[in-house]
Amino acid sequence: MAEIQLKSLAHSYSNTPSGPEDYAIRRMNHTWEQGGAYALLGPSGCGKSTLLNIISGLLSPSEGEVLFDGVKVNETDTRDRNIAQVFQFPVVYDSMTVFDNLAFPLRNQKVSEDKVKAKVAEVADILDLQDLLKRKASNLTADEKQKVSMGRGLVRDDVSAILFDEPLTVIDPHLKWKLRRKLKQIHEQFNITMVYVTHDQLEASTFADKIAVMYEGQVVQFGTPRELFEQPAHTFVGYFIGSPGMNLIDVQLTEKGIQFDGMELLLSDDLLQSLASASASGSSTNIKAGIRPEFICLQEQPMDGALPCSVKHIEDLGTHKVLTLELGKQSLKAIVDEDYQATDGQVYACFPEQWLKIYVDEYLVEVQGSEQ
Ligand code: ADP
Ligand code: MG
Repeated sequence: MAEIQLKSLAHSYSNTPSGPEDYAIRRMNHTWEQGGAYALLGPSGCGKSTLLNIISGLLSPSEGEVLFDGVKVNETDTRDRNIAQVFQFPVVYDSMTVFDNLAFPLRNQKVSEDKVKAKVAEVADILDLQDLLKRKASNLTADEKQKVSMGRGLVRDDVSAILFDEPLTVIDPHLKWKLRRKLKQIHEQFNITMVYVTHDQLEASTFADKIAVMYEGQVVQFGTPRELFEQPAHTFVGYFIGSPGMNLIDVQLTEKGIQFDGMELLLSDDLLQSLASASASGSSTNIKAGIRPEFICLQEQPMDGALPCSVKHIEDLGTHKVLTLELGKQSLKAIVDEDYQATDGQVYACFPEQWLKIYVDEYLVEVQGSEQ
């Protein structure tokens, strides 16, 4: 078991990279602590598989170091890194039985046959493969094959970490839920470092204690599902997590707050100060205000700080409603309770400052002196 540390890591598939866009992994630092259940979440093409392959040693990074428990493993062979990796599509030996497939990683290590039997039985039990042990792998369904593939990752006692690369892609939706719970149980039972790659936020938050959100070759935030929801560190996290994602509005700074489309929102001194120091260094004009649909409050009557919007559309999702609001030139989403009696016309939207996030060059302005 191991802590996995990535130091100044970068990778380009090109031999002559000319800019950041030529890098599948852009220079980054990250640590996966020993024993954690982690998800690596991000859209297709953001570099998730590249990162896993660098950890397992299938790929050698163009720059930077990979350390296991503080020891550099860049030159260590994949086999000797003791990492189990489960891929999107099952990797099984079709000509072997399920038993022999599961036994393979152990026999490779010259584990005694008694121990092999015991271990295979244990893993087969966890994954509900007991009845299939004598079957040839070639006769299995895609689901069953993937379970065998996962079993091969779980069977060894000596692995430092298990990396799952979108392992449930080929699995039937009903079984997905079951397997995800299984993986979580296995994690609790064996206390092994697990990194689970997915592009599905629900999958990530049901499996992981902590999620690394990846975007354009970098981890832009590493936090609990709650932190990603309440305090998105990057506009991408705001947009990608949540359904619908965070509302993001291009704004300009004023003396007392922010403005857009001729409307002004006043901000507290704390936030203004933090904003001044964050934008002073770069004098950036890329400033956005973000608020999640859950945190917009709507009033029927005008009130201080509330901005007039018109309700354009109401989507009733049974447990709650999603309103589409027009505010100036902006289209915003707001989530309200199921029993909210929406009137079609005008409403007044307030943005509680606790939930109003300001982003400079796409990164969150942390409020100094706040307890959040
Ligand atoms: P993800 O797993 O998040 O979908 P990948 O790590 O597979 O992303 O890919 C990251 C980027 O690297 C993508 O732009 C992809 O096209 C590119 N890429 C992946 N594998 C290769 C390869 N073998 N050769 C060249 N480019 C690659
Ligand atoms: Mg991938």
